[in-house]
Amino acid sequence: MPAPILQVSGLHKWFGTLHVLQGIDFSVAAGERVAIIGGSGSGKSTFLRCLNFMEMPTSGRIALDGTPLGRASAGKPDEVRYPESELCRVRERVGMVFQQFNLFPHMTVLENAMEGLVTVKRMKKAEARERALRELDKVGLGGKTDVYPGRLSGGQQQRVAIARALAMEPEILLFDEPTSSLDPELVGEVLRVIRQLAEEGRTMLLVTHELGFAYHFATKVIFLADGVFHEVGTPDEVLKHPRQERTRAFLERFT
Ligand code: ADP
Ligand code: MG
Repeated sequence: MPAPILQVSGLHKWFGTLHVLQGIDFSVAAGERVAIIGGSGSGKSTFLRCLNFMEMPTSGRIALDGTPLGRASAGKPDEVRYPESELCRVRERVGMVFQQFNLFPHMTVLENAMEGLVTVKRMKKAEARERALRELDKVGLGGKTDVYPGRLSGGQQQRVAIARALAMEPEILLFDEPTSSLDPELVGEVLRVIRQLAEEGRTMLLVTHELGFAYHFATKVIFLADGVFHEVGTPDEVLKHPRQERTRAFLERFT
């Protein structure tokens, strides 16, 4: 097994009095594809958001390439402070694709795909443009570069969002229910792009309710319930032969 890229230990997240993540240990190695399933409100998005620090963990540590991020205060190991520069580096290495695409409506497809390269990576416009075009081509949108997102279908918008994430050349890609807000006939075109990324051997975490896709896509499946990883295993173990009653009950709702 290759060394983990990302390692999480004892992750807790509270929102006020709501204890959403209740002690999660997790690691992902290069080339792994992890599907995360679980009921609505179980904390799937919160977990992904903690991994790239869009949400700050309440306690626990996250390590990249074996180095724990942030600094714990002396005598208070739970109080970890994260320098902004460090968070920026993590966010460059851990890309995210959202359920609602989150494109900038006032920017063209090409401008959207270039945005992070110019503002975060401080890349020269010409170079950013070239790289953005390459990724847009890859998701089949090379012909839509000058269009505004509002003129695109949901499936096309989500493919722009994927191209934008890819342009940053992240080591890990996080997908948070990337097809949940799409009309059924548009789901396939987005899943095809994700499958293509899987074939390239990319490291990915995917929150999804598309269990059939997850079965073929994932090297590992996690069922999140009650703030913990209730069941973890191969797609066959978790999706076809779950050992936990709770997992079985969840899966039955999809059949
Ligand atoms: P999932 O993605 O599995 O549907 P979420 O991670 O979005 O679940 O949310 C888990 C729980 O945390 C829910 O009860 C949700 O209402 C709550 N929650 C999520 N984000 C916030 C927030 N920023 N402030 C307060 N509560 C939140
Ligand atoms: Mg969610």
